Amino acid sequence: MIYLDHNSTTPCAPEVVALMQRFWSEEFGNPASAHLAGRKAARAVLIARKQIASLVNCNPSELVFTSGATEGNNLIFLGLLLSKQDKRRRIVVSCIEHNSVLDSATFLAGYGFDVVYLPVTSNGVVDLDAAKMLITPETALVSVQAANNEIGTLQPIQRIAVLAHEVGAFFHTDAAQALGKISFDLEDLGCDFASFSAHKLYGPKGIGALFVAGGPRKWPWSHPFQGGGQEGGLRPGTTNVPAVVGFGEACRLGAEKLTDEMSRLSELRLAFEKRIAALIPDCTIHAQQVPRLPGTISVAFTGVPADILIDNLATICVGRGSACSDGALKSSHVLTSIGCESNIADATIRLSLGRSTTLEQVDTTIEMLINSVPILRDKLKGGSHVAK
Ligand code: PMP
Repeated sequence: MIYLDHNSTTPCAPEVVALMQRFWSEEFGNPASAHLAGRKAARAVLIARKQIASLVNCNPSELVFTSGATEGNNLIFLGLLLSKQDKRRRIVVSCIEHNSVLDSATFLAGYGFDVVYLPVTSNGVVDLDAAKMLITPETALVSVQAANNEIGTLQPIQRIAVLAHEVGAFFHTDAAQALGKISFDLEDLGCDFASFSAHKLYGPKGIGALFVAGGPRKWPWSHPFQGGGQEGGLRPGTTNVPAVVGFGEACRLGAEKLTDEMSRLSELRLAFEKRIAALIPDCTIHAQQVPRLPGTISVAFTGVPADILIDNLATICVGRGSACSDGALKSSHVLTSIGCESNIADATIRLSLGRSTTLEQVDTTIEMLINSVPILRDKLKGGSHVAK
C-alpha cells in the first residue's frame, strides 16, 4: 500500500505509541487526584502541555485539551452563542472552512446571528479587500483556517486577525492542517483562539487542543460544558492521559522534523506536479500559484470522476476532495468556491504526502496515473463499463 492521504489522518509515530503504552495500565492515575499516582499523571500531562505549547509558541496554560479540532471549533461557536453581554451578532468565516466551522456558523444563524462569508480568489486564498469590507464593527467573531485541508492553501491569518482586532472582534483560526506541517507561531499571528488536532501530525486520534489567549480564565463567554472543573472549567471531564502524552510526544517529534520535512515534501510535491503536468494532458493543478502546505496536491484529470480513479488506483490511497465529505456525493465546497465547474471538481483527487512518503512511491504513483488516466478516459468516453 502507498498511503498518500496524510491530510485525512496520519499513522501514530512509533515513539508516540511507545510512550503512550505506559499510561494505559501502569501509570493510570487521574491527574486530578492528590496522591502519588495522580501527581505522576499530572506531571506527564504538564510535560505534554509544554511540548505542544513549545511547537506553537504559547504559554502551556493557554491550551485546553479537547477531543480534536472539531470540538475546538464547536466550543468557540457555542461560547459565542452563550455570550450574554456582547450585543454584536455578526460572524465572519471564510467560505472554504471545514464543515465543523461552516456548520457551527449555520447553527448560530438559526439563533439570530448574521453569518457573512469571506470569498476566496481563484487560487483559494481569502480576499483581503473583501475582508476589510466585511469585518465591520458589528462583528463578534472572525474565523479563518490557517491552511486548507483540500487544496492546501495558506491563509493570511495574521492580517485578518489585525482586521478583526481593529473592530474589537475576536479572531479564531482552525489550525488542524497547519500544526506540524508549517511553522505556526501564535505570538506572531495574534490569534485569540486556535484549534489543533493530534492525528494530523502522527499523534493519536480523538485528542486535540484549543488555544485560548490568556488561558481559560480569559474565556469571554459562558462555559458550554459543566463538570469537574478540568481544563479551567472550559472542557471538564477526566483527562485522557495516554492521548495527551501521545499528543505531546507527537509535537516534540514534529518540532524536531519540521524544517527538514517541509523542504523534503515541497520538493516531492513540485517534482510530482511538474511531471504530471508534462505527461498527462488535460490535468488541472489547483492553487498552483500561491503558498501551500508542502505536501498537498490537488489535481483534476478531466473526464475521469475521482471515485472511479481512486478505485482504479487500488493500493494507492488518495483522497477525493476532503476525507470528511467522503461518501457524500456532492461537489466540494472548496473547489466550487475557487470557481471550478462541477466536471473539474468531481474529477479532482487530493494527494497528501507525509513522513513515510518516498521518491519511489511518488514515481510509482505517477506511473500508475500515466497508465490509468488515458485508459479510463477512453473507456468513459466510449461509454464502456469501467470496473470500480
Ligand atoms: N479542520 C480541518 C481543516 C480539518 O482538516 C479537520 C480534519 N479533517 C478538522 C477540522 C477536524 O479535525 P478532528 O478530526 O480533529 O476533529
